[in-house]
Amino acid sequence: MGTPVMSTLPPLNPPVRTLLGPGPSDIHPRVLAAMAKPTVGHLDPYFLQLMDNLQGGLRQLFRTENRMTFAVSGTGSAGMETVVNNLIEPGDAMVVCVNGVFGGRMCDVAERAGAKVTKVERPWGEVFTAEEVAAVVAQAKPKVVGIVMAETSTGASQPIQEISKVVHDAGALLAVDTVTALGGMPVEVDAWNIDAIYSGTQKCLSCPPGLAPVSFGPAAMDVILSRKTKVQSWYLDVTMLASYWGSDRVYHHTAPINANYGLYEAVQVILEEGLEACFARHDLNHRALKAGLAAIGIGYAAQEGHQLPMLNAVLVPEGVDEAQVRKDLLTRFGVEIGAGLGAFKGKVWRIGLMGYGARPQNVYLVLSALEQLLAEQGCRFEHGASIAAASEVYRGA
Ligand SMILES: *Cc1c(COP(=O)(O)O)cnc(C)c1O
Repeated sequence: MGTPVMSTLPPLNPPVRTLLGPGPSDIHPRVLAAMAKPTVGHLDPYFLQLMDNLQGGLRQLFRTENRMTFAVSGTGSAGMETVVNNLIEPGDAMVVCVNGVFGGRMCDVAERAGAKVTKVERPWGEVFTAEEVAAVVAQAKPKVVGIVMAETSTGASQPIQEISKVVHDAGALLAVDTVTALGGMPVEVDAWNIDAIYSGTQKCLSCPPGLAPVSFGPAAMDVILSRKTKVQSWYLDVTMLASYWGSDRVYHHTAPINANYGLYEAVQVILEEGLEACFARHDLNHRALKAGLAAIGIGYAAQEGHQLPMLNAVLVPEGVDEAQVRKDLLTRFGVEIGAGLGAFKGKVWRIGLMGYGARPQNVYLVLSALEQLLAEQGCRFEHGASIAAASEVYRGA
């Protein structure tokens, strides 16, 4: 055997993009700077204080008093597994509402946890009514009902409050996915009586992927503390994580210190702006983009009246090579947007205006780039129409 040849790797030089897809979204510069600060130990008094403060900030974002509010070390899907795996024991019944990719993922996670899953289904882009959920819940008598608030694959915004009422009237717990919703639209854990909730850092929180804020209410904690079986995942067991995030400070796993710095700063940026101002900014930029797209003949995929501000799933015009447009956006304009998934594959583009990315300059950038690329593919509209329409919205604001 010869000596292995040593060579250095190519230099690390990622391109600068404008991330206007379904996530990750553009990172706030203050968050990137925060993540470069000195790493301390995971039991350092400085870090323990930071964890307490971060929990306080997350409670404000979720609008909850829940003590069990913290950041799971993992992406949004780890948040989903934390909620489902802790609430479900093998053989428990769970109802999952599915009208896109992430509801489907929740079914898979629940089945792996041993749940007997009943699906409530809706075509992609539509939302659920409280009545149809009530009807299924009355039959299935589940322990938990899971639903996605902002379905990133379809751009549909699911009202939660009425569904919460029918779920609780039937004696079940409500688990909500707010990976895309949190930080971009109102999420009211206490007022809406949500028992368990999770999010992710890389959508409207403008932070790199890697952490999943979660919160468990008193009824969910009662269920978890009276389990007959151990939580199937050691890493995501909330009772063990509670000893680290709570006052005991028992070592569980090494928290990703610098990722927590990033989330801390991201939460701070939102609290400084104010939640209401932040939601209003997402709404305004969404309306400007929507007006601009309408002016060049592009409509939305999700049900009217239920369109997400931070994720615009829009219909690709007839005859347009959608993949070519996305490729040109990336290579010529440095702009990333998302393709359609599942039922929307090849039919839909997903334009994210999330967190730091929800700014007029990004709306103008993606509209002007789309005008150029669509004109090259033979679409006809008045040149500059989308920019004029978006400007009109901003002027009226
Ligand atoms: C992105 C997303 C997830 C998954 O999060 P990851 O960070 O990719 O693991 C789950 N639910 C929704 C609604 C999402 O948009």
